[in-house]
Amino acid sequence: MNHELDERSRAVLEKLTDLRRSDAPTHGGHVLSYVYDSGLAELDALAREAAAAVQSLNALDPTTFPSIASMERDVVGFARTMLHGDDDVVGSVTSGGTESCLLAVKTARDLRNAAGRHAGTPTIVAPSTVHAAFGKAAHYFGLELVRVPVGPDGVVSADAIADAIDDRTALVVVSAPSYPFAAMDPVTDVARIATDHGLPCHVDACIGGWVLPWWGHEVAPWDFRVPGVTSISADAHKYGYAPKGASILLHRGRDRQAAQFFATTDWPGYPVVNPTMLGSRSAAPLAATWAITQRLGPDGFARLAERCRRATGSLVHLIEGIEGLRVVGRPTGPLLAVATDESVAADRRVDPHHWADEARDLGWVLQPQPSYVQSNGSRLPSTTHLTVTPVTESVLPDLAGTLAEAADLVRGVGPASAADALGSLPADVFAGPTLDAATADALLAALGLGGDAPLPPRLAPVMALIEAAPRTLAERLLVALFAGLSTP
Ligand SMILES: *Cc1c(COP(=O)(O)O)cnc(C)c1O
Repeated sequence: MNHELDERSRAVLEKLTDLRRSDAPTHGGHVLSYVYDSGLAELDALAREAAAAVQSLNALDPTTFPSIASMERDVVGFARTMLHGDDDVVGSVTSGGTESCLLAVKTARDLRNAAGRHAGTPTIVAPSTVHAAFGKAAHYFGLELVRVPVGPDGVVSADAIADAIDDRTALVVVSAPSYPFAAMDPVTDVARIATDHGLPCHVDACIGGWVLPWWGHEVAPWDFRVPGVTSISADAHKYGYAPKGASILLHRGRDRQAAQFFATTDWPGYPVVNPTMLGSRSAAPLAATWAITQRLGPDGFARLAERCRRATGSLVHLIEGIEGLRVVGRPTGPLLAVATDESVAADRRVDPHHWADEARDLGWVLQPQPSYVQSNGSRLPSTTHLTVTPVTESVLPDLAGTLAEAADLVRGVGPASAADALGSLPADVFAGPTLDAATADALLAALGLGGDAPLPPRLAPVMALIEAAPRTLAERLLVALFAGLSTP
């Protein structure tokens, strides 16, 4: 296995090192979304070695490569215990949160079809704050996502969920917690309502699944202890600290799990049995997840959760102390959203998008979330999202200074407006059918987006555009922007 790279290979890797220089730093706590830094170099090294050890395997066939089945049993077992499942809880390792959510929806749809319930397009009923992966699932699998409005604290009421359920409903989804606002949905009440209607209830714990089990007793029950919870997604590549490409989807009951699979003998090739969306796939994320769970054990996860908890508590306290900003609702878990505090005079308010832009200039990457109009017309505010990781604790003094300084720099500056940008666009793009690629590129260029520098240094105007433009137009332009990135 050990092999010294020759000169040409080393030159290739140097090129990669050069390319990597433009990336945001994945370690050290300066990026407060996307990356989950345990702060333990040992864990990263272990994951890397484990991934390398299975680099040549194909997880398509665990009968040819039984180590894959072995590791998957261990990881599913670990997750099942962590989420208080009995022996009837089974599951799989998927490639990520989105795939876990997609498969939860596909499972519910197929079980509903098998039960012969055909009353029009099936629906997923979920709070507004449910992850976009469920919108994607609805789109891919021919369902409709009913987004139930949440309150100003980001929490949905169980009654509102109940009202949205009808004979088209195939699945009810709640989050533990939600990504946008870290709101804990009322899992117990919603699961009971779902059960009363004979419906499955999925808990999306993609972000909370590997950290809430050690968060403490004030978290209301949300896992398999709650009757009526039929499946849970929990991402190992978030607070499981695994490299990207690993999530767990657990089902209560083997019959439910069977509906997740796709199997066919209806072609002249090998019999196909796929628990997940892909065919041939890497075993590397599974092996890395397996190695990390073996190494950390529940105690290791508990210690890392405690670091996240202390850092989150400090951050909430700190941000509440910055004039013009407020933390949305009561975040549960190591993430939070920050909005303008509208209880102070306009000249003392801080716009979260400007704030994030200033923080970026100071070397910290925060994630902007555009405001969102719910189906009842109420508007959820523009916010800045912060994901806290164990390493955040060690950079808290620096981060605290930055957050306060960034607020000072933009206090009293009103939100960016998209009026000029939108006014500069030809009127027919608003009424028109879908834009062709050339027109979309031209619009991007007119807006100062796309091309060699896809995004301007300030994101506040881009967020303003997303908030003000018709949704289909904004989505089309974003597609053009990202498609442009990989156009040779
Ligand atoms: C991250 C996340 C997802 C999607 O997961 P990916 O791994 O990014 O595909 C789904 N739901 C929630 C609550 C999440 O935080």
